[in-house]
Amino acid sequence: MIRYGQQDITQDDIDAVVEVLKSSNLTQGPNIPLFEESVLAHTGAKHAFAVNSATSGLHIACLALELGPGDWLWTTPNTFVASANCALYCGAQVDFVDIDPRTYNLCPQKLEEKLIEAKKEGRLPKIVVPVHLTGQPCDMEAIHKLSKTYGFRIIEDASHAIGGKYKGEPIGNGRFSDITVFSFHPVKIITTAEGGMVLTNSDTLATRLGLLRSHGITRDPELMTKPMEGPWYYQQVALGYNYRMTDLQSALGVSQMTRLNQYIERRHAIVARYADLFSDLPLTLPWQHPDSHSAFHLYVIRLQLDNGRSTHLEVFNHLRAKEIMVNLHYIPVHLQPYYQDKGFKEGDFPEAERYYEEAISIPMHPSLTEDEQDYVVEALREVL
Ligand SMILES: *Cc1c(COP(=O)(O)O)cnc(C)c1O
Repeated sequence: MIRYGQQDITQDDIDAVVEVLKSSNLTQGPNIPLFEESVLAHTGAKHAFAVNSATSGLHIACLALELGPGDWLWTTPNTFVASANCALYCGAQVDFVDIDPRTYNLCPQKLEEKLIEAKKEGRLPKIVVPVHLTGQPCDMEAIHKLSKTYGFRIIEDASHAIGGKYKGEPIGNGRFSDITVFSFHPVKIITTAEGGMVLTNSDTLATRLGLLRSHGITRDPELMTKPMEGPWYYQQVALGYNYRMTDLQSALGVSQMTRLNQYIERRHAIVARYADLFSDLPLTLPWQHPDSHSAFHLYVIRLQLDNGRSTHLEVFNHLRAKEIMVNLHYIPVHLQPYYQDKGFKEGDFPEAERYYEEAISIPMHPSLTEDEQDYVVEALREVL
C-alpha cells in the first residue's frame, strides 16, 4: 500500500524517545524548550510554544488575540475544519473567502472585495486565517497590507508549511502576521505524533499564549497579582487549558528537526520527477508562485474533466483499488453539514467547489521510492 503521506522515523528518533522514557520527566522536561528553540532557530521568530496539536494552537492563538462573541474570523473554505472551528470555540462567527484558482490559497483580491462590503455592513473580521495549502505560502504581503487598512489580525495556519519559504524567508518568521501555527501530525512535514507549535514575535501575545497553554497558571512573580507565599506557590491569573506537549513528543520533534531541510529537498525532488513523468497526461499540476518555495506537504493534481474522460470518482476508485491511498484535501468546509446548518450553501465559494470536483492528493512523502512513484504514474496513465 502506498499512502499519500506518512511519517519517516529513524533509529535516532526512536533512541531520543526511549531516552526520555528512561528519564525522570515524561511531560515537562528539557526537550520542550529544546524543540521550541530549534523551531525558533529555523524560523527566526521570537517566541514559540509547543502544544499538543495545531488545533489547540489555533484555539489559543484566537484567544490571545481576544476573539470572542460578536467577532468574525475569516478563512479559506479549502482547508481542514480546524482552521474555522477555532473561531467557534471562542464564541465568534466564521466566514470564508474563496480561493485563487492557481495556488488554491485564499485569494487576496476576493478578500479585498469582501472587506469593502463588510465595511459598509459593519461586520469586518477581527482575524483572518490564511492557510498555506500544500505548503505553498499565501500572498502574505497583500494580506498584511489589507490588515493595515481594515484593522484585522492575522494567524497563519502553517500546518502544511514548516520548512517552506515566502520571498526567500522561512515561513513562521512572522514578518506578515501576528501568530503562526505549525502541525506535527504524522502526515505533516515533521512529526511528534500529535503536536503543534505556536509562534509570535509579540511579547504581549507570548505572555498570553504561555498562560493559555497551561491552565492560565503562572510561576512568574512578574505576572502575579499578589506576593509569592512560598516555594510551592503559583497563581491562576487567566482561564487556560491543558494544551501542553509532552517531553517524549518534544524529543521526537528535536530529532525530526535535524532532517527538516533534507525532507524539503526530497519532496522537491519528488515534485520534479512527477512533473517530468506527467508531462504528457491531461492533468493540472501544482502551479508555483514565483515568491514561493513550498514545503510540498501535499502533491495535488487536478483532473481535466472534459472530453468524456474517467470521472473523479472513477480515477479515485481505480487508484485505491491499486492500493494507492490517494486522498482529497479538502472537502470545502462550508459544505460540511455543521457549517451548512449555519447558512452556508453550495455555490457560495465556486472556486473551492470546482477544485473539490477535480483535485486528488497523490503520494508525496520523503520515503516514497522511485519505483512507487512510477507505479503511481502508471496507474494514473491507465485510468486517464
Ligand atoms: C492538520 C491540520 C490542522 C490540524 O492539525 P492537528 O495538529 O491535527 O490539530 C489544521 N489546519 C490544517 C490546514 C491542517 O492540515
